[in-house]
Amino acid sequence: MKIVRVGFDVPLDTLFDYRCDAAVPGDIGARVLAPFGKRNVVGVILEITDSSAVALPRLKAITRILREAPGFSPDDIKLIRFAAEYYQHPLGAVTMSALPAGLRRVRKQTAKSLTHFALTTLGATRTPDSLPQRALTKRRLLALFQAHEVLDEAAVIACAPSAKTALKQLLGDGYVALREGALKANRVDAADALADSAVTQIVGPQLTTDQTAAVAKLCANLSVFVPHLLLGVTGSGKTEVYLRAIETILKKGRQALLLVPEISLTPQLEATVRGRFPDTQIVSLHSGLNEGERLNHWIAAQSGTARIVLGTRLAVFAPLPELGLIIVDEEHDSSFKQSEGFRYSARDLAVVRARQRGVPIVLGSATPALETWHNAASNRYTLMQLPKRINNTPPRIHCVPTRDVRLQDGLAPALIAAIARRLAAKEQVLIFINRRGYAPALLCHDCGWLSNCHRCSAKLVLHLRDRRLHCHHCGYETPAPQACPDCGNADLSPVGQGTQRVEAALAAHFPQARVLRIDRDSTRNKGTWSGMRTRIEAREVDILVGTQILAKGHDFPNLSLVGVLNADSLLYSTDFRAPERLYALLTQVAGRAGRGSVQGDVLIQTDFPDHPLYAALRDQSFAHFADELLKERRSAGFPPFQYQALLRAEAPKLDTAIQWLKRAAAMGQDIDGAVTIYDPVPAGMMRLAGRERAQLLVQSASRNRLQKFLAAWRIALTEKRASAARWSIDVDPLEL
Ligand code: ADP
Ligand code: ZN
Ligand code: ZN
Repeated sequence: MKIVRVGFDVPLDTLFDYRCDAAVPGDIGARVLAPFGKRNVVGVILEITDSSAVALPRLKAITRILREAPGFSPDDIKLIRFAAEYYQHPLGAVTMSALPAGLRRVRKQTAKSLTHFALTTLGATRTPDSLPQRALTKRRLLALFQAHEVLDEAAVIACAPSAKTALKQLLGDGYVALREGALKANRVDAADALADSAVTQIVGPQLTTDQTAAVAKLCANLSVFVPHLLLGVTGSGKTEVYLRAIETILKKGRQALLLVPEISLTPQLEATVRGRFPDTQIVSLHSGLNEGERLNHWIAAQSGTARIVLGTRLAVFAPLPELGLIIVDEEHDSSFKQSEGFRYSARDLAVVRARQRGVPIVLGSATPALETWHNAASNRYTLMQLPKRINNTPPRIHCVPTRDVRLQDGLAPALIAAIARRLAAKEQVLIFINRRGYAPALLCHDCGWLSNCHRCSAKLVLHLRDRRLHCHHCGYETPAPQACPDCGNADLSPVGQGTQRVEAALAAHFPQARVLRIDRDSTRNKGTWSGMRTRIEAREVDILVGTQILAKGHDFPNLSLVGVLNADSLLYSTDFRAPERLYALLTQVAGRAGRGSVQGDVLIQTDFPDHPLYAALRDQSFAHFADELLKERRSAGFPPFQYQALLRAEAPKLDTAIQWLKRAAAMGQDIDGAVTIYDPVPAGMMRLAGRERAQLLVQSASRNRLQKFLAAWRIALTEKRASAARWSIDVDPLEL
């Protein structure tokens, strides 16, 4: 009797046993439809055995193995298993979350992948070259069929925008025929032939000496696992290094995976990659795609038709049978870490994946995470450096002291004067407002009343557009009061500077200037941001006011001055990672200045102009700054010298969560006394959406030891039935 063990998308650690005599060893990773509770549910076969702890008569049978659409390869399963174990998350849930939604259930829409087309004997005799020169797509499609024999409709469509027409022609010519019925798992190993013919690339610029050295180092050995750190100042041409490495890997007939943060905001990068490899199948994977697109792109990656996958963190699980290179751009970006549910780090998993597959990986950044920097400094990663900007000098960075200065609407006179000069020279100005650790709450200057959210320990943020107060954490909103609810004072005003307030102030100071505000509110609609970018490039904007989203890799050649407000709020934060983040953020923002031919300037308003962080930034000496921070981390016993995990708990009342964590801590002491378990504390965001949250930090100098501890602890906590609190484990937490 054959028994398959299936993982489902349920928050339980177990796999579920079913009878399935049809299963063959190759079905590990296959999707199945199986009775679960009262319904039929899609799951994935993770093991095949011949015995079960469940009594045989009670074992249900699998309804059907879903062979018509692809599942996971053994390589994929290996990564998924690692992720589930390392991040202490149920294997079934991790497996299912790695599938695109379209494959997580059985629906009519997957019919596309059910229709298959096969190469005919006639088609096998025609060489693609014998087709008309101009029929590019048709030639490619025929080559594709000759490499794979059978393709489903999704794979055809993924080949090129006009592939449907080409398919019709091939059907008409009798080179290809519709094929009824199910298809065996269609994995590609003959993709090399196709890749060879398809890699034509537009020649890039002549590399600089530094770029040449980096590319040489990277391409020296492409067939083994080597982790690289590419440390390059902004504008140093890191992308060009990626493109050359991708080109080499494509020529070897392999696939490349390029992970980036928040891709929806950087269509420039996608356009660059597509422009460089016009004949190569490139797909993107990110949360901005609709379900159908995501499914098609996933299948294209899985079948090997897509040779480059460009995606955000979720793409780290993209199935890539011919994977040859992984690149993680802006590797320090916190969006690589999922912040709820299955809390994985895509950057760290990318390194694991590269090691499992024996392929090189490049982590690129101007300001690498200290964990990464430490790996390079201790020679676990090879270091490649691009210390110079390509075309021009780096921006000059100055501090504008604000302590004994009369600010005008939050702007220092020196900054206002600098803006005036740049505007007079017809150059563009960016005013960056650091939103981290800050939001414009409403304050009563008479009695000190502050607009708090009654459901969270957050302040309600004033939005001037609708004069409403919004909670950015739980979504609560209410009209802004006309007068103070406590004392009746009618003169309520916002604390500090929000983007809208600065926008108003700038408009008042520079009535001729065209001011554009760019933040989460003004870019909510999908198309708005690209429209704004076009306006900025066409110089229809003089002053940009914005938040974090403006810090990311946009290139505005006419922008020569960056003013930074509110940087100090991160300087003395309780989070030990705050200085690292502030440095990275300011480096990125500063990188926006002077991308064209004009010398750029960055003015940082601060009460602490002599702070060493600002000094390091002025010297643009990341290595020095990072080494100093590492010394502090070492003596304080923080990562990367210690490994951490958080046990998070939430309950209607804080005390319930704290008491539960205290019992959990006691259980932990019995498991391994050498793992440090701290006292439970209220979480940074203590109240969220009406529930109260607390957390417990555990720490060890040995990653292995911490892992063993967490596994045992989680089992013990799970067995403790009817828990009073909802809890979860966050491994390598970024926010404490
Ligand atoms: P980074 O990603 O390191 O911030 P980019 O990759 O955006 O830098 O490169 C900055 C600019 O320099 C881009 O416009 C890019 O096209 C250009 N560039 C890169 N390498 C070269 C080169 N070797 N010669 C000329 N221009 C280059
Ligand atoms: Zn008041
Ligand atoms: Zn709230």
